[in-house]
Amino acid sequence: MNTFPTSADGLTSFQMWIGGRWCEAASEARFESIDPFTGRPWASVPDAAAEDVHAAVCAAEDAQRGAWGATNGFARARLMHRLADLLERDAAGLAAVETKDNGKLLREMQGQLEYLPAWLRYFAGVADKLQGEVIPSDRPNFMVYTRHEPVGVVGAIVPWNSPLMLLMWKLAPLLAAGCTLVVKPSEHTPVSALAFARLVDEAGFPPGVFNVVTGQSADVGRALVEHPGVRHVAFTGSPGVGVKVAQSAAAHFARTTLELGGKSAQLVFPDAGLEAAANGVIAGIFAATGQTCVAGSRLVVHRDVHDALLQRVRERTERIVLGDPSAAETEMGPLSNAAQFKTVSGFVERAVTDGARVVTGGCSAPDLGELFYRPTILTDVRPEMEVAREEIFGPVLSVLTFDTEEEAVELANSTEYGLGAGVWTADVRRAHRVAHELRAGNVWVNAYRVVAPNVPFGGTGASGWGRESGIDAVREYTVTKAVWIELSGATRDPFTLG
Ligand code: NAD
Repeated sequence: MNTFPTSADGLTSFQMWIGGRWCEAASEARFESIDPFTGRPWASVPDAAAEDVHAAVCAAEDAQRGAWGATNGFARARLMHRLADLLERDAAGLAAVETKDNGKLLREMQGQLEYLPAWLRYFAGVADKLQGEVIPSDRPNFMVYTRHEPVGVVGAIVPWNSPLMLLMWKLAPLLAAGCTLVVKPSEHTPVSALAFARLVDEAGFPPGVFNVVTGQSADVGRALVEHPGVRHVAFTGSPGVGVKVAQSAAAHFARTTLELGGKSAQLVFPDAGLEAAANGVIAGIFAATGQTCVAGSRLVVHRDVHDALLQRVRERTERIVLGDPSAAETEMGPLSNAAQFKTVSGFVERAVTDGARVVTGGCSAPDLGELFYRPTILTDVRPEMEVAREEIFGPVLSVLTFDTEEEAVELANSTEYGLGAGVWTADVRRAHRVAHELRAGNVWVNAYRVVAPNVPFGGTGASGWGRESGIDAVREYTVTKAVWIELSGATRDPFTLG
């Protein structure tokens, strides 16, 4: 699908999409996107600054006040279905772009891209049903009803691990609500949002509904969050940046949804099916090279099955095929960027110094490429250690042991995060009991890392606030207005509350 021009230096060249036209940054500066597998640049994109962000927010405001603001839910739904059709057509090409940008497995990105139209179709179904309510009044002379109006321009900041999926989780509900968007993709994966913009154009959305600003500096995201025209900031990223984003947004009374990191636990009880649990543990931490917000980075296992489970997990871990993320047989690709590689190796080195034992992995794989890190299992991990508390965002599993159900729950809840959790047990009572006790926005029982457009996703504590997906996600992008209609025409004492 990529028919973008290739420049003399061999790089595929992309422009920004602002106000329904392709453009360069005002400064004409550009930067390169690096393919993490080859370590070489493969694409070049505009390097925006605050003035480009301003242009994009103004275009989004114009669309909100103009053509898009006048569009009803039925028309929005039709456009969303058309965009879903185009995304189905081009899913394979966009998946290839994402793999080039972030080094994740092509088959994982293909699976994500093929599923994304479901978000557009689900929320298209909501767009024409955004009705208010007539509220029975306690006074006979009033009729009261509510309207759910679009919040306005949304500024979205998305990370590099699943760029288009995390963009779509925002875009589909906000389009249904009638909002417009300026998105700033990660500096590590700037390309797929630009490639996707072509489909938005082809679908026939009015200019300014969807705008993409690419930039290398954190100043670009900052300019977007601080822009007074942005009425809601939808941020996915780390807790450290999330806090700053929330503070900047609050300074001009913009609302926020924050999808932040995690230190999710997988709890394995002695009655669990160990084969399935081992497979779930692998899926939780080594899929996507551990670069997923819901990575099940802590294995909390009952002492009685510790050895048997660990043997299975270790055996499968040592058979994981590392290599070219585009090859069908590959199970783990490289880490996404050099900073991430440094972070992951640093965590493991400090864990070993703190007394953790490397069961397998614990080192890079330079023969495969500069950014490859072997899937790593650490035991002798104590709850207070850094690797048991902090997000690594890489293929590193910390193993902790428990004796009682209460202890398992306490261990699982002992971080400031609250994003995901896995419970492995054959006991249905325990499954529900533990699921209710866990401080996490998403709990999977005898499964891990499953998402769907109609199921709310989000965290608590340092994992953020607000929900993406699920029918209520559309409410993140609406403002409820109450309308009071006086029916009698009578006057009243003006000096009392009506
Ligand atoms: P990050 O927080 O470092 O960066 C996110 C984005 O914010 C980048 O595009 C960056 O340019 C921008 N930014 C930096 N400073 C800013 C500022 N002051 N104001 C506005 N924008 C600013 O995160 P990352 O490294 O890109 O992504 C990894 C993190 O994302 C992990 O913590 C991971 O758990 C989290 N994540 C969460 C979810 C979820 O749904 N909960 C999903 C995927 C990733």
